[in-house]
Amino acid sequence: MIKIITIIGARPQFIKAAVVSKTFRERGSSVREIIVHTGQHYDTNMSDVFFAELGIPKPDYHLGIGGGTHGQNTGRMIEKIEAVLLREQPDWVLVYGDTDSTLAGALAASKLHIAVAHVEAGLRSFNRRMPEEINRVLTDHIADLLFTPTHAAMANLAKEGITGNRVRQVGDVMYDAALYYGEKAARCSRILTALNLSDKGYVLATVHRAENTDDQQRLQVILNGFAASGRRVVWPMHPRTRQRLEDFALAIPGNISVIDPVGYLDMVMLERQAAVIATDSGGVQKEAFFHRVPCLTLRDETEWVELVAGGWNRLTDVTNPKTISRDLLVCEQCAVETLPVLDCYGRGDSALSVVEALLKEKAE
Ligand code: UDP
Repeated sequence: MIKIITIIGARPQFIKAAVVSKTFRERGSSVREIIVHTGQHYDTNMSDVFFAELGIPKPDYHLGIGGGTHGQNTGRMIEKIEAVLLREQPDWVLVYGDTDSTLAGALAASKLHIAVAHVEAGLRSFNRRMPEEINRVLTDHIADLLFTPTHAAMANLAKEGITGNRVRQVGDVMYDAALYYGEKAARCSRILTALNLSDKGYVLATVHRAENTDDQQRLQVILNGFAASGRRVVWPMHPRTRQRLEDFALAIPGNISVIDPVGYLDMVMLERQAAVIATDSGGVQKEAFFHRVPCLTLRDETEWVELVAGGWNRLTDVTNPKTISRDLLVCEQCAVETLPVLDCYGRGDSALSVVEALLKEKAE
């Protein structure tokens, strides 16, 4: 039996881990997955809802670490994860994406000479001021097995000297999730009716990157840009963004409906029926493409370069409200049926490739 410790802590990691965890369970007794939740995201609607909706088993360990600075969180996580690893002695530590939980898991494991596997390896924004960029670079250099979603990610790693059998292009587990849970979303979600939203009649917005939320001017520009568009904007608001709006005493324009963060199934339905998605989220940019909705990215750069090249995604200047409102309308008029259907995120079987590789490597 192969023992795997999965380290997760933040919303996008619950979604990525859900499809991989399901695949582990399908393997029966040949693999035992132990889930460690660091506590980075702890609100019900940022954490519990995903375990319930996506059928992720209850974490075996809940470390309860959240709410501190990057340094405090990462340091405390390393200490507590190390104790779990010493006790459990796993064959693999599996980490996802680019949060403090990712880096803490990778560091704790590598110092104990436990093999580290990184799902969503090789992404780069080339913006070292992003905390996520530091987490990604370091985790990739620590990892023993790197699962990349795209060709661009493979190329990024090659430029840093990370090549060979250690690196596997498996596609994107978020595409697996979009396919697998998409049907359930259509059956179970009632959010469009609850919010009285008409098909293609609104803009869906999410904003949570530090560069936007922690800069009062940029946050104000985003609000003004949405206001100037005149469109109905539905904005499931990340707790950090809500806190900053309060700290900066910024008013919400009348055309913006701020709602609490929603579960994944409701999010999928909001994404599918939106006329445009405006976001600074990595995952939401891809989901816009999965559901064939044009996306405006509220950032200066993106890791998902193929979406920009393919015309599905447009970067906008977050220093000028007029540019944001103009670009929203440009996206709205984009004829998505004429855009290329990219196959760069795999075939929806990425989780299977991840699980098979983990089992095979340890069996050898
Ligand atoms: N998401 C969600 N509810 C929300 C906002 C986002 O379920 O209210 C999902 C979204 O569909 C995507 C993931 O959360 O799968 C993206 O997470 P986030 O934007 O927090 O992180 P990032 O992808 O930028 O790392």
